[in-house]
Amino acid sequence: CGIVAYIGQREAYPVVLKGLKRLEYRGYDSAGVAILNDAGLEVYKKKGKVAELEEFASGKNMHSHIAIGHTRWATHGEPSDRNAHPHKSASGKLAVVHNGIIENYTLLKQELIKKGHTFKSDTDTEVLIHFIEEIKDSNQCSLEEAVRIALKRVVGAYVIVIIDEDNPGTLIAARKGSPLVIGVGKGEHFLASDASPIVEYTKEVVYVNDYEIAIIKSDELILKNISNEIQTPYIQKLDIEL
Ligand code: GLU
Repeated sequence: CGIVAYIGQREAYPVVLKGLKRLEYRGYDSAGVAILNDAGLEVYKKKGKVAELEEFASGKNMHSHIAIGHTRWATHGEPSDRNAHPHKSASGKLAVVHNGIIENYTLLKQELIKKGHTFKSDTDTEVLIHFIEEIKDSNQCSLEEAVRIALKRVVGAYVIVIIDEDNPGTLIAARKGSPLVIGVGKGEHFLASDASPIVEYTKEVVYVNDYEIAIIKSDELILKNISNEIQTPYIQKLDIEL
């Protein structure tokens, strides 16, 4: 239901946690974050309120300069810790947060099970991240290319943001039918389902269009369409106050 992500010089987890609280008004049943540091990619997720996630993560090493976060409104699979996002890929190297629905996930899941995949949750989202990694491995292509190929086969409305253990300096995001805003700061980027988690940090935002894939580093934002053509990001000034 809500997505927040950060990449830059700040501590990422507090930014994402605060952003998730700002999105609480949308309603949700679970919350989670993925962070990436020297110890690797870690996912923390809990059924219930963002405050419960915060409690669960307290005392843990949450140090990271890149993070993705999610508040879930369950559509596929009951509200539970294991169905909460982020979801990891088969190798555990990728984690995704997702808003929306993958309508043909049953078909994709059957294909993946035939290839030996097993799943830890009942969600359409976990199927999607396994599907993306399967494409990446079998085509020996980049994650960005795998996302592009996957999105051509996926039916439904979605926003996804992916964090990759092998590429700690890059977030990959894509949208079709659900909103995604990118806040452009100085050497940092903020991603969210709407501008409310972003306004306190920057007033410069880019609204990602349908079928666009964003490749986001601290100091670089590349937007491409589904045909792999670079799109010039249209930076708008927010005129809302907190
Ligand atoms: N379909 C996904 C799920 O049920 C995402 C739901 C959402 O947008 O929060 O986990």
